[in-house]
Amino acid sequence: MPTTNRRGPPTRIGYGFDSHEFRPGIPLKIGGITLQHGKGLGGHSDGDVLLHAITDALLGAIAAPDIGALFPPSDPKWRDADSVIFLREALKRVHDAGYAVANLDASLILAAPKIGPHAATIRERVAELLAIAGDCVGLKAKTPEGLNLENAAVAHVVVLLERTKPPRKKR
Ligand code: MG
Repeated sequence: MPTTNRRGPPTRIGYGFDSHEFRPGIPLKIGGITLQHGKGLGGHSDGDVLLHAITDALLGAIAAPDIGALFPPSDPKWRDADSVIFLREALKRVHDAGYAVANLDASLILAAPKIGPHAATIRERVAELLAIAGDCVGLKAKTPEGLNLENAAVAHVVVLLERTKPPRKKR
């Protein structure tokens, strides 16, 4: 393998995907926001499909282990965990690697609830969590036309990182 530039490339791209199944009687968390809906997204943690995809995009951009490796569902520690914890760890690793988030773009695919009325709140929350401007967070919501995914929510995310400083020395 060629030797990696000590400072790493000036920009890096990351991609994340996640999906969760709807289950009745649990809160619906998307992008760190709780939405009023009769059912929520099941999973070991709080099931926040968007924050999971963002976390994996951040980790992927710096070639770090993915969310499942860092926070294994087999570990009872992460039962019902707030997914903000996962996002914060990924962001810390990005910063430690000498990068900052330039912008992020996300697509959510779900039949219900309608995301439109909540899109601004979700974008603001995601921007706040990533410490970037609101106009650096793109969010599109689609219904799963022809995909037979009425009981699932899917998120795709790309992020762009910019190098800010040399990576922190490994201890
Ligand atoms: Mg997940």
